[in-house]
Amino acid sequence: MTPAVRLENVTFAYGDQPAVDDVSLTIGRGDFLGLIGPNGSGKTTLLHIMLGLIEPSSGRVELFGEPVDSFERGERIGYVSQGATDRAGTMPVTVREVVTMGRFAHAGHARLSDEDRAAVASAIETVGITDLADRRINRLSGGQRQRAYIARALASEADLLALDEPTVGVDAESRDAFYRLLDELNGAGMTIILIEHDIGVVTDRADHIACINTELFHHGDTESFVESDALEEAYGSSGRVVHHHH
Ligand code: ADP
Repeated sequence: MTPAVRLENVTFAYGDQPAVDDVSLTIGRGDFLGLIGPNGSGKTTLLHIMLGLIEPSSGRVELFGEPVDSFERGERIGYVSQGATDRAGTMPVTVREVVTMGRFAHAGHARLSDEDRAAVASAIETVGITDLADRRINRLSGGQRQRAYIARALASEADLLALDEPTVGVDAESRDAFYRLLDELNGAGMTIILIEHDIGVVTDRADHIACINTELFHHGDTESFVESDALEEAYGSSGRVVHHHH
């Protein structure tokens, strides 16, 4: 089976400052990849390259076996960008409306069918916010908003979820529940790419780790990462790394 994402010798610079340098990696379908690295190490840039939001200056990017620039099934990708939950604070739309937007990729501009409406309700139920479906998203907590965004991706029948620091501003309890939800989705076959600054959370949850600092320092299963020196190498001696064991 073709992998979810394939990067081959990908390089990108903002001006003459390289942000991503010669990165090659393959993310298998069903992988739960934690993408880690210090602040400013190119994580968001690399994620944007994977999703076709930034074109690399050199190298090759494939999504589900197709070159990313001709990949047309954008609805297969659920993306929650950094700060998405903060920006949602100004939008006077309900949870159901936000999740319904995930369905437009299927419905086009025609009226939503009963099937579309059922898919929206089912996505809202999966993330556990059925009681909030008709509330305005700007009335919700950060954790509840996060769930609404995941539900939007589910309603679109995404195969890949890309999350950039999704739990910033979310309280500890909601954060744990959120990660349990990600585990469940991954268990059901969803490919997940997670940028998260808390290394302990990443190594607890993800089954694969990509550790970058402009260059790729390590990519492999979580066990091989924990046993490697990649963390120290990528973060350097100055890095005060958040690293805890349970
Ligand atoms: P991370 O997600 O790991 O914090 P980023 O991918 O956001 O890293 O940034 C990588 C580097 O590129 C940083 O040095 C950052 O300052 C720089 N950078 C990011 N976005 C831009 C931009 N739009 N213009 C110029 N430089 C940028």
